[in-house]
Amino acid sequence: MRWRTLQEGKIYVKQNFKDGQIDVSDIQEIITNGDKQMADRIMRYGEGLCRTRQFWMARRYELTDMIKQIGHQGLIFFTFSTADLHWPELHKLMQPERHSSEETDSAKQRQNNIIKNPHIASWFFHKRFEIFFHDVLKEYWELEDWWYRYEWQHRGSVHVHEIGKRRNAPTINWNQMKENENLMKNMIQYIDSMVTTINPGIFATIPQIHPCQKSSSEIEDDLQDYIELINKLQRHTRCSPLYCIRRNKSGQEACRFRFPKEHTDQTFIRDDIHGQPELVTARNNPYINPHNRLQLQGWRANVDLKPVLSIHAALQYILKYASKSEPRSTAFSEIFNEILNKSNPEAASLTSIQKLLINSVAKRDISAQEICHLLLGIPLYHSSKVFVSLNINEVAPRWLRGTGSNEDGEEFGSLNDSRRTTKSALNIYWERPEEFEEYSIFKLYLTHKLINGVWKRCATENIVRIRPRPSPLRNGDQ
Ligand SMILES: [Zn+2]
Repeated sequence: MRWRTLQEGKIYVKQNFKDGQIDVSDIQEIITNGDKQMADRIMRYGEGLCRTRQFWMARRYELTDMIKQIGHQGLIFFTFSTADLHWPELHKLMQPERHSSEETDSAKQRQNNIIKNPHIASWFFHKRFEIFFHDVLKEYWELEDWWYRYEWQHRGSVHVHEIGKRRNAPTINWNQMKENENLMKNMIQYIDSMVTTINPGIFATIPQIHPCQKSSSEIEDDLQDYIELINKLQRHTRCSPLYCIRRNKSGQEACRFRFPKEHTDQTFIRDDIHGQPELVTARNNPYINPHNRLQLQGWRANVDLKPVLSIHAALQYILKYASKSEPRSTAFSEIFNEILNKSNPEAASLTSIQKLLINSVAKRDISAQEICHLLLGIPLYHSSKVFVSLNINEVAPRWLRGTGSNEDGEEFGSLNDSRRTTKSALNIYWERPEEFEEYSIFKLYLTHKLINGVWKRCATENIVRIRPRPSPLRNGDQ
């Protein structure tokens, strides 16, 4: 990764400063003279580098286009965390000679297991999620589309953020619903069947064994198991400045997840301060995280679930979770200034630009599990949709499978596009066979894919992304 970053830094210098002789003071001058675009240009150049801010920005735009194309009806957001310090099946893999859970019991032993075997932990999480998602959730929640990504927190523990679209969900039209009791009742019923913040065992005693350490044969009472999982995993118990306490605009400190929450017997939807629908779920405890019983009991680690009530909320979510680069990175211009301030003005610019690219990749801790995930070749995100990028100006159309690799099976992000001599998207469209005479360029790429010169119909619609975006101002009335 670092090597490729360095190479790309070199290419940038070669292409933009022909003799490669520009030095840091020249760059400092360009910046102080107000050429803020220069930094942007360098960053855009690094777009091909996986896992950087730019990588996730590109995903954000794709996902935004996907949501706009498939619509926000029936969308849900959900999260799956890990319980890798507890899951008995995982620890069995790390200590194959032991068979009984009693012998592997010490917390210290389990922690050592995880530290010594990040590759197993990483593989196991991915496999477990894949199986649970595809064999259970997809069926049970009737998902027709989805997009999910892996993310690692500071201390290295992994979780998955996902957006799914349900097949037979009732349509949400907030303005209509406010006027129509039946529509509202239907919607509330649907939401209550999907997500809950009720703890059926509010006074249950804290269990001796952590429920995530039980194997399926050890679970005797289904309801009691569910209650134990809620009490152990689904309570937002510790608000702390490091995790969730933020200062709001008026200077007051508050939990950013807005805990504690109000008690209410009935689920209802109301206008928020922006006139957007806001869901308030029935709850008997102010700290329960929203979830679905099957999701929690099947997955057996902390989970989260939120139905999407508006396109506004969908786009907010993408901004907040789906495309976040991690951890809270210093703003790019700050990094750039920092590098320039620390640099020797006599130094050649190559080093500065290399430093800049490296910083954008590596200004964060990368956990052992995250590195193992990458070494195992597991993609960072998955999507049920294929993305087609049509740059009308010049570049050949680029097909991206939902796992981030292109049709050649290469890792997405290599610089190969610039070396291709393929025809532009527009040229290919103009030369389309007669049977597609009536198709617009959008419709053709939406439903078909060009394979070895032949247009083949796709099983599901692609997400077509046209660049540059058609501007309503410039195009005027058509
Ligand atoms: Zn909090």
